[in-house]
Amino acid sequence: MTRAVLSIGSNLGDRLGHLQSVVDGLGVAVRAVSPVYETDAWGGVEQGPFLNAVVLADDPGLSPAGWLRRCQDLETAAGRVREIHWGPRTLDVDIVACRDGLEQVRSSDPELTLPHPYAHLRAFVLIPWLAVDPAARLWVTGLDRPVTELLAELDARERDGVRPTDLVLSN
Ligand code: AMP
Repeated sequence: MTRAVLSIGSNLGDRLGHLQSVVDGLGVAVRAVSPVYETDAWGGVEQGPFLNAVVLADDPGLSPAGWLRRCQDLETAAGRVREIHWGPRTLDVDIVACRDGLEQVRSSDPELTLPHPYAHLRAFVLIPWLAVDPAARLWVTGLDRPVTELLAELDARERDGVRPTDLVLSN
């Protein structure tokens, strides 16, 4: 059994529709879907705010590389075109972390780095994740850390920048 924690974001076009396409596309694999948050974009490119959420999904037969392919297929289906690095995108799907049974998968392969190398620094990942799994833990620099602690270590402005919305993803 592998479980993936997926961070999903959109700041172009039908933002909520793009996030919903992930939940629909994963179908019966979906175990939990977080509330939807709005976050200003990172990276210095002038662009609109993102909608962000986290999805927990299980698939007994899917390897971590299989999860990456599914994520990329979902991005392609949402019409994602990679034009500007850090630029606006219809859909971004990142694997935050992956478990194989009870073991967290760890990989330093640039094609698939697990856990995701920036996840512990991004309130827009940690806040939705805690909303669906308050006991979540993440490997960071060789330590298995509670996500609540990682979030508490972030700058308050970063945490406050993740704004709850009334938008709902249906599962
Ligand atoms: P991005 O532009 O942020 O969507 O980055 C996509 C690239 O990051 C792809 O080439 C992936 O192979 C690579 N990548 C490495 N680790 C991960 C991960 N944990 N989740 C998603 N993409 C990853």
